[in-house]
Amino acid sequence: MKRLFRTALAALALILVVVLVRAIQFKPALKAFTPLAKVPLEVEALAQRLSANLKFPTRSYFEKEKNDPQPFRDFHASLRRQFPLVFSRLKVQTVGGFGLLIEWPGREAALKPILLLAHQDVVPVAPGTEKDWTQPAFSGAIEGGFIWGRGAIDDKSSLVGILEAAEKKLGEGFQPARSLFFAFGSDEETGGESAAEMAVMLKARGLTFETILDEGGFISEGIVPEVTPPVALVGIAEKGYVSVTLVANERPGHSSTPPKKTAIGRVSRAITRLEARPFPARLDGPMRSFLEKVGPEMRFSRRLALANLWLFGPLIVRGLSGSPASNASIRTTIAPTIFQSGEKENVLPAVARAVVNFRTMPGDSTETVLAHVREAIDDSAIELMASTHGEPSTVSDISSLGFTRLEQVIREIYPTAVVAPNLTVASTDSKHYGELSHSVLRFLPVRFGPMDLARFHGTNERINVQDYADCVRFYLRYLELLSMP
Ligand SMILES: [Zn+2]
Repeated sequence: MKRLFRTALAALALILVVVLVRAIQFKPALKAFTPLAKVPLEVEALAQRLSANLKFPTRSYFEKEKNDPQPFRDFHASLRRQFPLVFSRLKVQTVGGFGLLIEWPGREAALKPILLLAHQDVVPVAPGTEKDWTQPAFSGAIEGGFIWGRGAIDDKSSLVGILEAAEKKLGEGFQPARSLFFAFGSDEETGGESAAEMAVMLKARGLTFETILDEGGFISEGIVPEVTPPVALVGIAEKGYVSVTLVANERPGHSSTPPKKTAIGRVSRAITRLEARPFPARLDGPMRSFLEKVGPEMRFSRRLALANLWLFGPLIVRGLSGSPASNASIRTTIAPTIFQSGEKENVLPAVARAVVNFRTMPGDSTETVLAHVREAIDDSAIELMASTHGEPSTVSDISSLGFTRLEQVIREIYPTAVVAPNLTVASTDSKHYGELSHSVLRFLPVRFGPMDLARFHGTNERINVQDYADCVRFYLRYLELLSMP
């Protein structure tokens, strides 16, 4: 008995030592980089040009008949006026209506090119919220140190910022070693058909890219809990999107003599069962890379846990499952969004129908979702129909040239930022380009605090004037560094 006790004590001591050693070794990566001296820019003129482009209401509607082509024509004309070198020296094609595909040939044809994505369209302002804007949504007002308007962060700052950088580099006589491509879709907010068309064109030419950069991540300040420095979130994968319709058919009848099972009852039970059976949480892939990067910045007790996922994994999963945002990064989510049945209070309906929206993790698919639903609801009489808007992306390699050089650019422009790979839970145009590169990365060089997230597709979208200048500096350096051999 005594011996057994001693063995147990020794094992416990060993575990403690391993846990502590791992925690102590889990420290911030060496900051081996040189911050770049700020490139002098005419900040006021930059702001004016972005402001002018925010005035065009390039809205995308799901109801196609509501789409107005004129703002897109005006936007193109404005870009041509503002960036004459880009539009005269580079090869510019209009694709699928208003998509813009721009090609800057490199010196060395053998090197794989780089592709930058951005989109021209914006989401409409939610009806009834117009009056809540401090500055009107399509005013492009420059006020209080900010440039205001729909598209200021999503994502004209990126599109116009890329062109600012290209125009300046062309003016300086810069010639990239690798070819640079810019693909600016015109309907990202409604699925990205023009991006899909440009991707098909590039694929038909047999092109693959060293890396692709799109929106999706950003510089978060005070958003990642317990981490003081800014965290540059770089999306290395994107979730998929599938909706499943559940239908129950029962005999219609009078409500005075109801049968044991009703259509509404069956679908309700199915939804309840489904919600009670979440998808398993996963700490692999993007979440693991994320925790490895931000974990060392946290206080010791957290570091102890994060450095020892083999032991504390379940505890961390419980913590992350607690908030909707972090929960969405560790599992395929289940969101019942439509529930329909019944017309009259004294008639049992023949049909009940519900739609559940799933955002799938890399590794899951429409098939695994359907299998999960079938098993969870355990009712073979309910019909299931899936409609898929996109399977989850593959996970990009963080040892790729695309990621390591992007990390360098971020740290040169934002010297205090920790660069952390993560999972993009929303959908971007990059989903159409997955086959064209093993390194598809999602990062918008803009700073966001906790109060700014609601501006995305929300009210009072704006960008800080100085921040926008840094955004242009980011693209200047990106074009330079990424196009090198
Ligand atoms: Zn966007």
